[in-house]
Amino acid sequence: MTLSEFDLIKRYFSGGLYQREDVTLGIGDDCALLQVPAGQELAVTIDTLVEGVHFFPGADPEALGHKALAVSLSDLAAMGATPAWATLALTLPRSDSDWLQAFSRGLGNISRRYQVQLIGGDTTRGSLSITLQLQGFVEPGRALRRNGARVGDLIGVTGTVGDAGLALLALQGRYDAGDALGWVRDRLERPQPRVAAGRALVGLARAAIDISDGLLADLGHICERSGTGATLHLEQLPLSPPVVRYLGEKGDWSMPLSAGDDYELCFSVPPRVQRAVERAIRDTGCAVSWVGVIDPDPGIRCLLPGGTALAVDAGGYEHFC
Ligand code: ADP
Ligand code: MG
Repeated sequence: MTLSEFDLIKRYFSGGLYQREDVTLGIGDDCALLQVPAGQELAVTIDTLVEGVHFFPGADPEALGHKALAVSLSDLAAMGATPAWATLALTLPRSDSDWLQAFSRGLGNISRRYQVQLIGGDTTRGSLSITLQLQGFVEPGRALRRNGARVGDLIGVTGTVGDAGLALLALQGRYDAGDALGWVRDRLERPQPRVAAGRALVGLARAAIDISDGLLADLGHICERSGTGATLHLEQLPLSPPVVRYLGEKGDWSMPLSAGDDYELCFSVPPRVQRAVERAIRDTGCAVSWVGVIDPDPGIRCLLPGGTALAVDAGGYEHFC
């Protein structure tokens, strides 16, 4: 069935998604009208998912709806912000109602869970591409930035790293993940943004980032912006059983360190708040691991169990290299 742009928006995006009281005017006019709460700063982020670059052609549209919002929620989480409003620029090769229905179901489910309202967007024809902008609130001056790490800080990581990278290898036919395929694939396609953990870090962490390009690259951003370096103890990396198995078979540390798409948080805290941070993050239902320390020498040193240094490529996905 072919729908006009107008019908398509009305049918799949204007009803049914989460509604918020601070939206004076949502989808349907030239602009949305929004009430920014008094005494809050607006945190704004945007991300694009392009077919063939960020996801495989033919990817499950429901998972894409989830991921489109999840990756932006992860950015707000990394700043310690509370999500509120989203806009969506959708470029579609054709108006395929099955695809749109599944996409809006995926987007709707995660938007209800995080109380995000879709307040507008744009719809165009072309190669499949999904751009979502997300706005949220944070107390002025309290956002978690990348530039606050200090020498001696402990480096924490939520959840586990490398699961999405393993799924990618498996889907590319480069590794047999066996029974674990379903679980790692879910980690790649339906990441769970650490919004509550990010909120819990406000006032405790000195710097934070979400791990989208791999732990080494993203911790590298914290170090660069903070004028520090870091040492990682690889035996302390939080790894799921499938990634432990992969490492045992291949010995390839660069995968969990550099593969990306983890959407966990990496942060630095002064040692005196270590226990408070553990409690605060665990109260959100999320695991936390201490993987290393911030130190003065530029660069990131990775120490293997036993203390020998491992040379790993800084990695991180670069679109224009
Ligand atoms: P305009 O021509 O003023 O840009 P559009 O016809 O593009 O208006 O959009 C009409 C309304 O539908 C606007 O409120 C716009 O924000 C909303 N909209 C368009 N595309 C989307 C989309 N993919 N998701 C959510 N809202 C959308
Ligand atoms: Mg438009």
